[in-house]
Amino acid sequence: MHWADVLADELIKEDRKHVLATGITPSGPIHIGNMREILTTDAVYRCLVNKGGKAELIYVADDYDHLRKVYPYLPKSYEKYVGMPISEIPCPCGEHKSYADHYLISFLNSLEEIGVKPRVYRANEMYKNGDYNKAIQIALDNTDRIRDIIEKISKRHLPKNWLPFNIRCEKCNKITTAKPILYDYPIIEYKCECGYEGEVDIRKGGVGKLPWRVDWPARWKILSVTFEPFGKDLGTVGGARDTGEKICEEIYSYPAPKYTVYEFILLKGKGAMHSSKGTALSSEEMLNMTPPEVLRFLLMNNQPNKHMTFDSGLGLLNLVDEYDKLERVYFGKEEEIKGMKDLEKTYELSQPYHVPKKMPFQLPYKHLVTVVQIGETWNNMKKILVRTNQIPEKLSKEDEEHLKQRTEHAKYWLEKHAPDMIKFKVKKQLPRLKLTGEQKKFLM
Ligand SMILES: [Zn+2]
Ligand SMILES: [Zn+2]
Repeated sequence: MHWADVLADELIKEDRKHVLATGITPSGPIHIGNMREILTTDAVYRCLVNKGGKAELIYVADDYDHLRKVYPYLPKSYEKYVGMPISEIPCPCGEHKSYADHYLISFLNSLEEIGVKPRVYRANEMYKNGDYNKAIQIALDNTDRIRDIIEKISKRHLPKNWLPFNIRCEKCNKITTAKPILYDYPIIEYKCECGYEGEVDIRKGGVGKLPWRVDWPARWKILSVTFEPFGKDLGTVGGARDTGEKICEEIYSYPAPKYTVYEFILLKGKGAMHSSKGTALSSEEMLNMTPPEVLRFLLMNNQPNKHMTFDSGLGLLNLVDEYDKLERVYFGKEEEIKGMKDLEKTYELSQPYHVPKKMPFQLPYKHLVTVVQIGETWNNMKKILVRTNQIPEKLSKEDEEHLKQRTEHAKYWLEKHAPDMIKFKVKKQLPRLKLTGEQKKFLM
């Protein structure tokens, strides 16, 4: 059985509406590791719906999280924003509403291309709307129990006046520098490192944020989450998932969601991707060079807990070939692939939108990569391909769209990632050469 079906079967045992969550802090370019998280969840969601389960796919952007440091891709002037929620910081290019949106919007656009349509929640709105108010009060009322859970499980020591709430200083806007002095419902008195002393009323939204280890389980309860995968960094012993589970069950009286742990994706030649170090390939970039069905295939064909390497060089061409072969097998045009399991389900889950009823017209991708360098535009390419009998003169609209789309991906790949040995240019004008009589004779 396909891994996504196994996970869906686990969920469907419980007869209720399932909320499958996925999310991220958009503090930098959103890389392919996050794409793995959302495509894993999307696959389980699709299988669940397929089995007749009631389910919703959601995406939580934690844009109320604070900027942790001036990342290598940011100007030095961002120093003054460190500690502020990323929804309240200006965008680096000037064209988005906020710093968070700068990274989030392009990722959400990629999701559309890859056929994932989650309901999107933004933490900054949830906090400001008061969606978290009850959870904040419960956390503050249970400060000692939460402190106990975190200290015992994570082996961390928390400061004496610690509260499970990071106050947002009204003067400097940071959520990392205000220290609580006294909590007496509904007021917290605080003093900030900037010198400001004040008080916040927790019944008002947006006056602060739950620390991550409390925020996560609170969110499970608020949004009734029943499934959420996480990267192996969060799944370590004593990590946020461990404390979250306990806080969710004991403080919020809500069963912790089911999950799967996913492995990181390595970039060939570069190692693990980290957005914070600027070594990541953004999901947008990856999708620009890879046809969406092929990118989905890469993830559907591998168990989430399997290490994977993405090769943006020649390996990409092989990956497309592998997908095309799977397609031929799916439509019975070729023998099964030895050792490949669940190929029907893998093919179906690889489709961004719908499963084609008949096999799409295939043009070997490596050949397309050559023809695009000769023809350059789709119309020229089409002429060449028809003239050489490689495509029928009348291609269905769908097939033509499919080839056109692949041409765009191939072009992008050639421009940005292809190794030099693959690239060539056809000269538009004949070179001026003086040929000898012998040479002319040979060419005739
Ligand atoms: Zn921007
Ligand atoms: Zn302050």
